[in-house]
Parts: sequence; C-alpha cells; structure tokens
Amino acid sequence: MRPTTADVVICGAGIAGIATAYYLAVRYGITNIVLIDERPPLSLTSDKSTECYRNWWPGPDAAMVRLMNRSIDLLEELIVESNQRFRLEQRGYVYATANTEQISELCHAAEQAAEYGAGSVRLHQGLSHSSSYDPTARHLTGADVVLDSSLIRTHFPYLSDQTVALVHARRCGWFSAQQLGMHLLERARECGVRLINGRVTGVEVHDNAIHSVQTNNNEMSCITTNTFVNAAGPLLREVGHMICVDLPVFCERHLKLSFNDYLGVVPRDAPMLIWNDPLVLRWSEDEHHVLAESEESRGLLELLPPGVHTRPEGGSGSSTMLMLWAYDPTPIPPILPLQIDPYFPDVVLRGMVSMIPGLQAYVDHPPKPYIDGGYYIKTRENRPLVGSLPVEGAYVVGALSGFGIMAACGTGELVASSIVDMPMPEYAAAFNVSRYAEPAYQAKSAEWDTVGQL
Ligand SMILES: Cc1cc2nc3c(=O)[nH]c(=O)nc-3n(C[C@H](O)[C@H](O)[C@H](O)COP(=O)(O)OP(=O)(O)OC[C@H]3O[C@@H](n4cnc5c(N)ncnc54)[C@H](O)[C@@H]3O)c2cc1C
Repeated sequence: MRPTTADVVICGAGIAGIATAYYLAVRYGITNIVLIDERPPLSLTSDKSTECYRNWWPGPDAAMVRLMNRSIDLLEELIVESNQRFRLEQRGYVYATANTEQISELCHAAEQAAEYGAGSVRLHQGLSHSSSYDPTARHLTGADVVLDSSLIRTHFPYLSDQTVALVHARRCGWFSAQQLGMHLLERARECGVRLINGRVTGVEVHDNAIHSVQTNNNEMSCITTNTFVNAAGPLLREVGHMICVDLPVFCERHLKLSFNDYLGVVPRDAPMLIWNDPLVLRWSEDEHHVLAESEESRGLLELLPPGVHTRPEGGSGSSTMLMLWAYDPTPIPPILPLQIDPYFPDVVLRGMVSMIPGLQAYVDHPPKPYIDGGYYIKTRENRPLVGSLPVEGAYVVGALSGFGIMAACGTGELVASSIVDMPMPEYAAAFNVSRYAEPAYQAKSAEWDTVGQL
C-alpha cells in the first residue's frame, strides 16, 4: 500500500459530490482530488429523483431564488458544453387550485417570487380571447397567473372542471439527472479527479484542522489531505460526526410512482402539474373499514396535505407518467434499503384524480406500478448546508432535500469557490451552517411557514 495524498477528499459521489469535483477541477484547476463512494456513482438518491427544476421558491428572502437562478444559468452553460446531453425541457410548473380562497395566496406567491428575482408576473383574467397566454412557449421567466376559467379549460381540458386558478411558473422543467451527473463526472475525471470505491470510515483531525481520511479501500486506506468535503447525502450527519460536527439535519422518506398511461389521459406535452389544495380521499366503505383498523393507515382517511404532482416521462413513444405526493413527511432515520409504503400507488393515484379526473380509470383498473424513492435530507427551514464547517479544512454540501438535482451546479460551484477562497455571492451566507449561531436567524427561521417543498 502506497501512502496517498490529495488536495481534496470528497465523501460521496452523488450529484452533490460530483458537481463539487467538477467545479474544483474544471473551473478552478484543482485536480488532485479523491472522490470516494462505497456505491456506484449517483446510485443512492441522485438517480431516484423526478429530475425537475424550478426557480420558483418562497422567501422570506431572495436566497433560494438566487441560488436556483444561478444553478439554472450553469445548467444552460452545460447544455452547450455537453451538446444537450441531459435533454433539458423548460415546460414550467403549473400549480392549480379549486379553492377560490387560494387565489389571493397564489397571486401573492407569484408577486413575491418576482420580487426575489424569479421574473415578472403576467395576469390573465377575463380576457380569454385576447390573452397572450401560451402554455407551450419556452424560454420565458416569471409566471403566468390564469384566473379565467375558459382559458384554463381551453389549454388544460384534462384538468378538473372545478379548477378556478392556476399559476404557470416558467423557468422550470426537467432534465436527465443521470446524464448531467455522468457529464460532470467524466469531465472531472478527464481533469485528473480519481473516483475510488470505498467507505470513509474516519477522519483524523489535528488541532481542529483536517489531517487525513481513513477508508476501507485496501489500496487507499489512509489519504493525507487538509481539505475534506462531506457530500454524504442521507449519511451527512453520520459523516459529520467523524469530525465531531453535529449537522442540524433530519430525513424524510419520499417515494415516486411510475406507470404506463396507456389510455393517454395526460397529453405528452404537459408541463409539471401540481394540485395546490389539501385533499380528503374518497374510499369505498370496505376500504374505509380496512384503513381505519390499523394505526399505520388511519391517517389516510384524514385531510392530506397539498402538493400531489405528476409529469410525463420519456421521449416520443413513451407513455410513462411519474407521480409523487409527500403525504407523510414524518422524520425517520435513513434506514437502507428504503422501505416502500404499500399504500403509496393507490394513494397518489387517488390524489391525482382530484386534479385530473380522467385518471379515475386507473383507480378502477390500476396498471402495474413501479415504485422507487429515497430520503430527503433536510434542515428545518428546507435550505441546504453549503460551505465551510467549524473544523479548518472541512466543508459540507448537503441537506439538498427535494432540490438536489436542480441545485447541484449552484451548490457545487458555491462549495468549490469557498474551498479555493474565491469571492462568494451574497446569498452564500444563507446556506452556511454558521447561520444557526446567529440569534436573529434562529428567531426568523422559527417563524417561516412555507418552505417550498414538493
Ligand atoms: C423521490 C424523490 C424525488 C426527487 N425529485 C427531485 C427533483 O425533481 N428535483 C431535484 O432537484 N431533486 C429531487 N430530489 C432530491 C435529489 O434527488 C437529492 O437532493 C439529491 O440526489 C441528493 O444528492 P446527494 O449527492 O446529496 O446525495 P446522494 O445521491 O444520496 O449521494 C450521497 C452519496 O454518499 C455516499 N456515502 C455516504 N456515506 C459514505 C461514506 N461514509 N463513505 C463513502 N460514501 C458514502 C453514498 O453512497 C451516496 O452515493 C428527489 C429525491 C427523491 C427521493
């Protein structure tokens, strides 16, 4: 065994660790990097996502919108660099409601996002014949707020006829996370980054500074380095403990349903569709009885949170739909492999029926579902942890919740800039773990009511 030294060791080859390696190597020319993972790259959480992106985020300040705008700018640069390898589709997110009381909230959210830099609001109200609203237009920013029911019906005939308003946020869509990740990884490796299979088992700290990293890889069991990046996804907290830093994160299980929309209920050119109303699901008397019997399922009879959503997946010829709903966001330990909730396909499909009644056909005759998912690692305000830690030479890029794919480039660039001591954008402070040391931040964040989770 030869002694190894590295300028930077990154623990975790999910999208966060890979993007960090890319910005360090390709942008800043730091090439003596070891990227270590005990699994194949991108295989724990980063290949389980819905692969969506958006610059539509709530406050209470502009930090999330700015981070996402930057991340999307970087994605757009990478489209050119990679020759559109990851097939970005800017179709927008449509948030719809059947509740007239929600209208002012949706309008307020659109105005606030505009104030934070998401782009301006276009209101379409009572002007159905002369409206300039075009749901298929690409490359728009901001949001179209549609309050005219006939306009909604014209463009979205498959939505519930109870729909009274929608917001179509435009700098949003989806792309192939796997292809983005592989592009970043290949470019980083071309610059010299070494991808090593193994588990980080310990980190040695001398005088409150990183000294070396221990692994279970026989060829590289001790790597001398003074820079260590914790990009361990669901194991962020566990790896933090190796340097005696307790990161303020918790995990939620999130599942995703894929199924064959063989009846063509949702048009293939649809945007991301999100129902913004809480729901009580309809169950038959027998089903009600069965669900009420067990503590695990009783909650499904109650009011479930807003946010059930769906989008078409795959190119021409595909009829796959993805569906998600975080109806049970209870924090749980990140037990692997992930346990699948047997009720999930039925619940998410019934939830979607409120928005798209044509899907009822599948409740009666469900197509074979495919379910996967992973853990969202979150801080309580649903903002990431990016930047330096209280141990000299230690950094974190994580707590990427349900936005790690869209934020990967922005957060990878941010932590890389912090490592090489480059000037940081003004929003960087909002994501550094040191924010929790400020009493004013603690007080402000305790009052946040919307965290923008889907
Ligand atoms: C169902 C679902 C839907 C989602 N939808 C979206 C979406 O539409 N848009 C979006 O932007 N995001 C979405 N996300 C979130 C996104 O997938 C995650 O935020 C992102 O993948 C996190 O990336 P990561 O690199 O931090 O973690 P991971 O991908 O989990 O990578 C962490 C890596 O660290 C490694 N590791 C941990 N500990 C060690 C150790 N001690 N030694 C060696 N290796 C270690 C693990 O093996 C793993 O490979 C979704 C997530 C889920 C679950």
